[in-house]
Amino acid sequence: MELKANRIPDEFRLVVPRGMRLVKRMEQEFLLVESIYCPKGHNLMVDSVRIHGEPSIKLELSVAGQKGLVFVDSFWGSHAKLFSFLPECGEGSHLEGFCPYCHVSLNEEYKCSTDGCDSESSLVLHLPSGSGRVYVCSSLGCPGHVLDVNSLPHEMSQSISGINFFGHGTEDLFGGLE
Ligand SMILES: [Zn+2]
Ligand SMILES: [Zn+2]
Repeated sequence: MELKANRIPDEFRLVVPRGMRLVKRMEQEFLLVESIYCPKGHNLMVDSVRIHGEPSIKLELSVAGQKGLVFVDSFWGSHAKLFSFLPECGEGSHLEGFCPYCHVSLNEEYKCSTDGCDSESSLVLHLPSGSGRVYVCSSLGCPGHVLDVNSLPHEMSQSISGINFFGHGTEDLFGGLE
């Protein structure tokens, strides 16, 4: 898989929230999640599993009766994931996310705004010091994700949330990682 750049709005450079940073790869700019936590404050970043050369976000996942770990790409808008198990269910299955350390549920009621997705819940991850939250749609394969940062103007928040490296979520679900 190749990372494709999406334009980061110029104004965003000045207001990158804590826990995120801009990085250059192949002359292009990407937004990277650098630290993110469960609601109880456990750091979900792990160095031991790297995706695209960066630490990944470790979550415990339960889907259609199966449970396991998933490692999520920290590049904003990428949907690359490594599963410790092979989900036997299809796209659109409901995911429950948990902190891998304290096992608190990460799911909250939050309607996905992606066209064609009717999911009413999202996995919620917390940026450091309450600076913001990241919502990831709980429907397997849906690319819906939202950056909610209090200090960001609504429009910019929307344009950042709209960044997707792929039109759909599943192309790289089980493979395609370099
Ligand atoms: Zn925790
Ligand atoms: Zn969705």
